Amino acid sequence: MKHLHVHRANIFFFPVTFILFALVSLILPSPVAAVEKIEVSDIRFWSYPDYTRVVINLSDNVDYAQNRLAQPDRLYFDLKNSVLKKELRKIISVENGMLRTVRAGQFSENIVRVVLDLDKMTSYKVLSMEDPKRLVIDIYGQKQAVSLRKKIVLDPGHGGHDPGAVGPNNLYEKDVVLDIALKLKKILAQDQNIEVFLTRETDIFIPLEQRTAIANSKNADLFMSIHANASPRRDAKGIETYLLNWTNDEEAMKVAARENAISLKKMKKMNEGRDVLDMMLSDLRRDNKRDESLKLANYVQHNMITGLNKNYSHIVDHGVKQALFYVLFGAQMPSVLVEVSFISNPAEEKLLAKDSYRVELARSLASGVNQYMSALPEGQTVARNGRNIVR
Ligand SMILES: [Zn+2]
Repeated sequence: MKHLHVHRANIFFFPVTFILFALVSLILPSPVAAVEKIEVSDIRFWSYPDYTRVVINLSDNVDYAQNRLAQPDRLYFDLKNSVLKKELRKIISVENGMLRTVRAGQFSENIVRVVLDLDKMTSYKVLSMEDPKRLVIDIYGQKQAVSLRKKIVLDPGHGGHDPGAVGPNNLYEKDVVLDIALKLKKILAQDQNIEVFLTRETDIFIPLEQRTAIANSKNADLFMSIHANASPRRDAKGIETYLLNWTNDEEAMKVAARENAISLKKMKKMNEGRDVLDMMLSDLRRDNKRDESLKLANYVQHNMITGLNKNYSHIVDHGVKQALFYVLFGAQMPSVLVEVSFISNPAEEKLLAKDSYRVELARSLASGVNQYMSALPEGQTVARNGRNIVR
């Protein structure tokens, strides 16, 4: 009897409750969205003579609106469904000729407004990055006078608390690539018309977005990020060179996911995302950097293979590939990322541990860079051996 009673009551109450709930949810905004607000946890910037990178750290992906207003000149971003972290510094003084201040405020209950008070900005660009979620705003000022001296920025991957890939015999990617970069710098800098900078010269951690910011701030002619590859397949070996672009290739996506320190799932999502599309299109409009990066990648890859094949057998050529690497996002110059061998492969780990192999890699990378620079298109000037040659 009791059972029957409950049953009958359910039949009656269920539709009524359901209809009531449906009506209420039509009128009120979703209660879930109101609870889970995105926290704006930190705002940082890197300032250089003609370039500023502002980074807004967030607890989740954010929808935002952007607008530029005149008198006074300012750029603002309305971050939807967001709250400011209590301890966050609300006014950040930059005062570098492009940007005066960055101000953050709770504009309305659901909107955090970040205002960039401008001085002289020629253009800007916004990109999104994951883990931690962050919005990166690049502000460009007037370009400095062009010098004839070529500038190269080398970026040894990882460092500090981030060892990168670790070999089966405990060799760290961060140590190998730093040594190769230092050797490469020495070789390239023998040409007195080439200036070489490293994003790090010691075992320190630098965020990926700061590495690109360094290259942009130096007005570099060329940017090369140096890494060692890894795979769960122990027999995977060989050399490959990447440029920034979309990809459908699962293996390339795995490499980029590892180097970006994000999951493969997020990597796949990024390949379809709106932010990346916007960023890539604005890059494409800017110049023919994609073609130049491809050319550079081809020279570098070709020279690594031929250079190493002289002294080592079975060097596997994986060729030039493309993927979305954070460290290449927003780079204003031809830029590539090289994977110089597989540290996860016991035989290649042994090679990477050898000074002679690292020297050979550095020499081959230098030949690739030099070949690229001496093959610059008509009209561009390259200084060589103290003389300026117009090609
Ligand atoms: Zn790496």
